[in-house]
Amino acid sequence: SLLLKIRIWAVTHVETNQHPAKRLIDPYNRTISYLRLSVTDRCNLRCTYCMAEKMQFLPRQKLLTLEEIRDVGKAFVTLGINKIRLTGGEPLVRRGIIGLVDSLASEEGLDELTMTTNGLLLEKKAKDLKLAGLGRLNISVDSLIPEKFRQLTRFGDIKDWHKGVNAAKEAQFSNIKLNVVVLKGFNDLEICDLAEYAIANEFDISFIEEMPLGVTKSHDRVQTQVCCGDIKQQLSQKFELIETIERTGGPSRYMRVAGTKSKIGFISPISENFCGACNRVRVTADGRLLLCLGNENSIDLKSIIRNHPGDENMLNEAIRGAIQNKPERHYFDPSRTDILRFMNTTGG
Ligand code: SAM
Ligand code: SF4
Repeated sequence: SLLLKIRIWAVTHVETNQHPAKRLIDPYNRTISYLRLSVTDRCNLRCTYCMAEKMQFLPRQKLLTLEEIRDVGKAFVTLGINKIRLTGGEPLVRRGIIGLVDSLASEEGLDELTMTTNGLLLEKKAKDLKLAGLGRLNISVDSLIPEKFRQLTRFGDIKDWHKGVNAAKEAQFSNIKLNVVVLKGFNDLEICDLAEYAIANEFDISFIEEMPLGVTKSHDRVQTQVCCGDIKQQLSQKFELIETIERTGGPSRYMRVAGTKSKIGFISPISENFCGACNRVRVTADGRLLLCLGNENSIDLKSIIRNHPGDENMLNEAIRGAIQNKPERHYFDPSRTDILRFMNTTGG
């Protein structure tokens, strides 16, 4: 549709106002301005759609050190990335995470440093994260019902999540957004309640279609798939949703909820491909630059950093070169698991 084309154009052309020489542009003329930087593949939960029950995590020496993560982040900012999201695994289980936030937040040219977290460790860390310069915060939650929360996370306690969220509210982050992955038969009847909770707390909320990353034994993705159209339908029976072209630099399409401070986002990798507006790349916890969630091409930044320490030029050129191989799009199909890496190893 025309509106979609305008959106795509706006994301790829208007959101960055940098000098063209300081821009990463891929072969499909998309400006790459957003880096999702994974700091660990480990996690204090085992969400069924994200991980196998028994996971083999990376040995410590394979992980980038905090200094290496910082240097990689800085290299991307030098090349024109203006938004970094720290993720994982669970970023808050990485020791030294506050120091990393601190060292990246002040980087000139970086407009926004954000984090996606499951929230459980925020009780201890929210205040320090805010002080260190973290901007917005995305907190994941798929159910507010204690037994369901435990079932989806395999052993999480919703009480810890609430403590974390309260600490985040107290720390006064400029914006808090909840992330919900919707699975039919697990949490699809809770969509309106989750939205209600977000509205009551003046949070935003995004609903996400599950992607076929890694082989799951806990559920059949074809059976649990829910499309954003159906989610929107459910919500519009309860809330007055207003179309908007607002974006926050991610793939969410937003609608405002009339009479509230909240917006509701829809992330539809399966039902409505948004690759045309993709502005992002990912760096995994072991230092691979991954150009697309749904494709395997990546380059090994860790070996460049370790074999050529301090050679900024080489790192920058490797990144620039890799961007020229960014695939046009993914071809996710819930009935096939083409991508064997789980979301936690990818950096969600
Ligand atoms: N541990 C943090 C958290 O849960 O927010 C950050 C990492 S997690 C991998 C990032 C986001 O990816 C979460 O919102 C999670 O729900 C989502 N996610 C994980 N596996 C997914 C999948 N297969 N499809 C869609 N979203 C997924
Ligand atoms: Fe951990 Fe986040 Fe994956 Fe859940 S979604 S297992 S919290 S990394």
